[in-house]
Amino acid sequence: MSVDLHMHSNASDGQLPPEALPELCAQNGVKLMSLTDHDTMAGTKAAEAAAKRLGIAFIPGIEFSTLWGGTGIHVVGLGLDPESPGIAGFVAGTQMKRVERGRAMDENFARVGIHGALEGALHYAENSTSLSRTHFALWLLEKGHVKNYQEAFDKYLKPGRPGYARVEWPATVDAVRFIREEGGVAVLAHPGRYEFSAEWMSDQLLEDFKAAGGEAIEVTSGSQSRATDIIFAQKARDMGFLASTGSDWHSPRSARPSPGMQPALPKDLTPVWVKFGYPRDMD
Ligand code: AMP
Ligand code: MN
Ligand code: MN
Ligand code: MN
Repeated sequence: MSVDLHMHSNASDGQLPPEALPELCAQNGVKLMSLTDHDTMAGTKAAEAAAKRLGIAFIPGIEFSTLWGGTGIHVVGLGLDPESPGIAGFVAGTQMKRVERGRAMDENFARVGIHGALEGALHYAENSTSLSRTHFALWLLEKGHVKNYQEAFDKYLKPGRPGYARVEWPATVDAVRFIREEGGVAVLAHPGRYEFSAEWMSDQLLEDFKAAGGEAIEVTSGSQSRATDIIFAQKARDMGFLASTGSDWHSPRSARPSPGMQPALPKDLTPVWVKFGYPRDMD
């Protein structure tokens, strides 16, 4: 796929600095990209400048952590201004919650006899305000508490596991409305990845997302299965969503497709990038 509108740098929980991502994109033939770090646009300028040097079109982006019905939902905002005071204010609240959660996780780990987790995780974070469960996973691996990265989530970091601490992220609909107010396009990230307790909840999320002003969903994503790509392609048709696509790439250590290597979008869907003046057919 020559478009990739979802990937991470070390401004959040990715491994590479923002300016290195466009190089990977160029190697993989990507013509249009977005950097969508969790709750920060700190890497946007550097990534955009590098993309420009390499002749890659760039849409500024972010991935907001939000909460809907008790489940963590990720909403990508595309076309936002990294220098907007509104964005700075919005992410400041979330970043503070990340710092507070880090302390709560540290206490949780201490309770099961694992000490120094916060300090260890912070070594992996470029910025303490972007502290992520990913950074805790890397530290657990380093210390031999787990055999691999995935085991860190399965054993300690998922909801219900000993290291987990819940965060009151902003409500999904509030994040969507905020993206609209800021002139951006709200995209529901990897809709196939959420684990709901009942099947109707996925459809209700899509309804609520649309009613709040959400315009697109990720139909193909490196972080969901091919079976769910097909399900959400049909949801996009049925509900009139624009289609987005992204690798959700974080690092070479992950098994996820590298930037631009996620499956292509079905040709009958209208891609989200037409909203930004790019041709329907970017391939
Ligand atoms: P956070 O936003 O700090 O709660 O961290 C969430 C990040 O951890 C996600 O963006 C993924 O990169 C990673 N992650 C979350 N859940 C899992 C999981 N079950 N397995 C592997 N990685 C995960
Ligand atoms: Mn992540
Ligand atoms: Mn996500
Ligand atoms: Mn992501």
